[in-house]
Amino acid sequence: MALEKTLVLLKPGTVQRALIGEVITRFERKGLRVAGLKMMQLTDALLSEHYAHLSDKPFFQRVKDSMMACPVVALCLEGVDAIEVVRTLAGPTNGRKAPAGTIRGDYSMSFQENIVHASDGPDTARAEVARFFREDEIFDYKPNNFLSTYANDEF
Ligand code: ADP
Repeated sequence: MALEKTLVLLKPGTVQRALIGEVITRFERKGLRVAGLKMMQLTDALLSEHYAHLSDKPFFQRVKDSMMACPVVALCLEGVDAIEVVRTLAGPTNGRKAPAGTIRGDYSMSFQENIVHASDGPDTARAEVARFFREDEIFDYKPNNFLSTYANDEF
């Protein structure tokens, strides 16, 4: 158990479909702390770095174009085991196969247009938070409800 930070992007389709508030609410209700939050227009160069692991895939450019279609909302979320918790809330990549109850399962009909990006491990989370946020855009305030969210040996 460790207090972790993770990066979430609300993808352009989420912004276009006016689901920003609804999706952020899912994360807040779970008990994750919003440590950073902003809207930004992504560029091809930044996405080539962010999606480098997909560079040999036939859909690489299409995915990047989709991520540049309009601004995204970037979030840095913090919580105990936040990286895994957020991936579980997001659900599997393909929205058509994602179980009901997950964000992708509830809001997505697509492999590509799947509502959120979420970091997939400690190294990527660290790199991705630094890629999308400057240090002074991450806020380390303590939530008042912390001791109602966790047992005192869980963090
Ligand atoms: P995830 O976002 O679940 O971590 P990946 O890192 O494998 O998944 O892929 C990044 C993004 O690229 C996905 O969220 C999705 O938008 C898109 N993508 C991945 N695989 C496919 C695919 N087979 N067809 C279309 N889009 C895909």
